[in-house]
Amino acid sequence: MPQTSKIAYLLERLAQGVAAHDRENPDHHTWGIGMAHFDIERLGLEEGEEILPGIVLQADGGVTGAFRVLCDGEHDEGAVEEEEEIVDAVAEQEIVHAPVVGEPPPLRPPF
Ligand SMILES: [Zn+2]
Repeated sequence: MPQTSKIAYLLERLAQGVAAHDRENPDHHTWGIGMAHFDIERLGLEEGEEILPGIVLQADGGVTGAFRVLCDGEHDEGAVEEEEEIVDAVAEQEIVHAPVVGEPPPLRPPF
């Protein structure tokens, strides 16, 4: 099992990200959370698992340390411009810069 408190914190951040997205984009249907495969692995999660009710975790090849709210809506750049500080439009999805925090530094070789 993954470390429960870390995952609970992560899930809270994910839920907040989804809630923020859905609040700004009430006509979008959010279906997933995108994370870099590296993050999914180091968090002990599994691609394709339902990480929140109705929300599936996807490896999306995006940057590590952040997650993307995956939705079926269109994000045009003008609409999200004022959210740039916390939300980056990347490809057709958006990035919520909620770093996957609470992670210990990766193991390093001893040199
Ligand atoms: Zn959206």
